[in-house]
Amino acid sequence: MTTLLFSCSDELVDKEPETTEAVSTGMEVDAKAASSNGVMMQAFYWDVPAGGNWWNTVKGKVPAWSNAGINAIWLPPASKAQNGGYSMGYDPFDYFDFGQYNQMGSVETRFGSKSELQSLISVAHTNNLNVFADIVINHNSGGASESNIFTNTNTYTDYAPASGMFYRSQYDFHPNDYHNNDTGAFGGFADVCHHKGYVQDELWRNPNSVAKYYKNTMGFDGWRFDFVKGFEPWVIQEWNKSVGGFSVGELWDGNAQVLEDWVNASGSSAFDFACYYRMKDAFQNNNLTNLNGDMLIKRQPSKAVTFVANHDTDEIFNNKLLAYAYILTHEGYPTMFYSDYETYLDKNKLNNLIWIHNNLAGGSTSYLYADTDEYVARRNGYNNNGLVVYLNISNNWQERWIQTNWGSKRIKDYTGNSSWEPVVQSNGWVKIQVPPNGYSVWSVK
Ligand code: ZN
Ligand code: ZN
Ligand code: ZN
Repeated sequence: MTTLLFSCSDELVDKEPETTEAVSTGMEVDAKAASSNGVMMQAFYWDVPAGGNWWNTVKGKVPAWSNAGINAIWLPPASKAQNGGYSMGYDPFDYFDFGQYNQMGSVETRFGSKSELQSLISVAHTNNLNVFADIVINHNSGGASESNIFTNTNTYTDYAPASGMFYRSQYDFHPNDYHNNDTGAFGGFADVCHHKGYVQDELWRNPNSVAKYYKNTMGFDGWRFDFVKGFEPWVIQEWNKSVGGFSVGELWDGNAQVLEDWVNASGSSAFDFACYYRMKDAFQNNNLTNLNGDMLIKRQPSKAVTFVANHDTDEIFNNKLLAYAYILTHEGYPTMFYSDYETYLDKNKLNNLIWIHNNLAGGSTSYLYADTDEYVARRNGYNNNGLVVYLNISNNWQERWIQTNWGSKRIKDYTGNSSWEPVVQSNGWVKIQVPPNGYSVWSVK
């Protein structure tokens, strides 16, 4: 197990710090910090308790999350949806009803009232957390029935929201007088046509558009766009041009090329579903060589948002903590899933990995070794920091000689899983170890 299986010629390239075109808005944490030196918390899971208390629950956790190194929270879709107080928000009806109008069977949303949401956002900002809104603009739900001249049937495309904002009709959905469809529809939901000037005005262009109200009145700092396969990437580009802020799209596709093409076309970050599926193959299906596969973090790391589980998909059960060790030591902007952090995994271990991410996981990546049960990679750091992460899914302790950038320095495992504190040889080589079904993360002591 201690043979030198990796060549010594691996070159060191220090990457320029990530740049961002996001605008700084003063009191909020700036978006550069959000995308390059922090961890996002997905602050919900599918079917959080109904009853209008979720914003308060999240608000109570914000100070601890901030102390742990979380720098942004992603909230579920915050405005009134067809299913009213029971909805998780993905069937949007009135973009300006945050729980203050009596419609769709309730005043409050499943998550609470408008003032509770504003209080949460304000406490998040006080704690230096960005707040990202979940934006569902592919489709709408809950319109009244009207006779539709484009389908020659009755369709649920008559929207008269109680807020009095953004009335919609059959002309604003597909098919219409402009064309029949865009790149996709979600089930049978009314599919919004972003080609209509009126829709663009109401969604992001006007001073009282959805985007500007979310940003300027509610205080959201950034955007998580739902189901971006359902419309063209220029929609995201236009929205972001209008209001700025960090932006990530849910493009549910495991093909890294598809993700990269969308990132290039939209200018937005994307969730790295390619990384997710390679991790599923590696950790759930017990073959770490799958981590050699193609991912957005290897193509456009500054535009990749990584995750181990989310409200839609949670399929990595074996070695899940190792999957977090992977995303929190690699490039990309990692997401912590609420349920894993608060319920399923060891919070102290996750906090340690968040600290490692924020303090050691800088610079470019060198892939040092992978076989079925072991994986070793190095972050090259900026000023003598960086790290080496060693993952092991076998039932035995393992050890391996690897090459570092730390000639003659003493190193240690910052996870505390190994008590070794070896001195690196002057040529950079050192032997490290990893516990059974575990991980270690090495850096200069
Ligand atoms: Zn259209
Ligand atoms: Zn669509
Ligand atoms: Zn092995």
